Amino acid sequence: ADYTEGQGWHDHRIVPYQPITLDPSASILHYGQTVFEGMKAYLSEDGIVRLFRPEENMKRMNNSCDRLSMPQIDEEFALDALKQLIELDKEWVPAEPGTSLYIRPFMIATEAHLGVSASKTYSFIIIMSPVGSYYKEGIHPVKILVENEYVRAVAGGTGTAKTAGNYASSLKAQEVADREGYSQVLWLDGIERKYIEEVGSMNVFFKIDGEVVTPALNGSILDGITRKSIISLLKHWGVPVTERKVSMEEIREAYLNGKLDEAFGTGTAAVISPIGELRWKGELFYVNNGETGELSQKLYDALTGIQKGTVEDPFGWVVEVK
Ligand code: PMP
Repeated sequence: ADYTEGQGWHDHRIVPYQPITLDPSASILHYGQTVFEGMKAYLSEDGIVRLFRPEENMKRMNNSCDRLSMPQIDEEFALDALKQLIELDKEWVPAEPGTSLYIRPFMIATEAHLGVSASKTYSFIIIMSPVGSYYKEGIHPVKILVENEYVRAVAGGTGTAKTAGNYASSLKAQEVADREGYSQVLWLDGIERKYIEEVGSMNVFFKIDGEVVTPALNGSILDGITRKSIISLLKHWGVPVTERKVSMEEIREAYLNGKLDEAFGTGTAAVISPIGELRWKGELFYVNNGETGELSQKLYDALTGIQKGTVEDPFGWVVEVK
């Protein structure tokens, strides 16, 4: 669909995947006025396609739009359009364990205007593609490099929005991580490089001496949908979980005292990604001897089970596409 100031959203359409045309002066190309979401649809043995908390993605998209001075979408309408699109492309939803249909809704500023002000026209597009299993043979721990120089976001910036600039500014650190054999970067706060924020495309949890902790939403990290689902699941199970500041020094102490029980990332892509090793300023911290922890595995099984419809969904998170 397209948006024009004064007119609102218009020209809703479903078309085959194809290139789009943009004016070379389009705002998106110069000032990065764009937001996106990442979600997945799962096909189960019962032949039903399921979405996981899609209304949360639509809500977050509107929060991102607000931060980037972009127009709001009608959340219900967008969700309905998404369901129609999936119904049309149902044969594209893969069925093998771990696979899914990846869905990328995004909005871009299209006005031809070389001035730093909010665009007056936008396009909202949803693209989809089947994706393979994140883990080929069960989940396995990843190595994470703690970034001590560059930062991803600061409170008051755009860290809470899912916008391109956050990812563009992360690429340089990610390149170093790739080169040194680490799968992702762990970002620290932008003021002191002391407190843990999040991983490149995941929120992060630690189990320290039996306590589950995750960095509190502080105005610079993404409000992950998997994160909030994990917190609800843990509470439902009666496992105490605390959202608070977590410093790298605390992680180091816990490691040295043999109390760093588990660490894992959470996100739509991997669902749960156990962390087996962290490197911070040249020091290595191994978590649970580099093996998948019991809690990480339990959370992974529960969440993927709910998403696939094989485990009871006590929260009403799953939306079936008819
Ligand atoms: N943080 C960042 C920076 C991300 O890109 C993502 C992926 N969307 C997440 C956290 C996890 O969010 P979610 O659980 O909603 O996928």
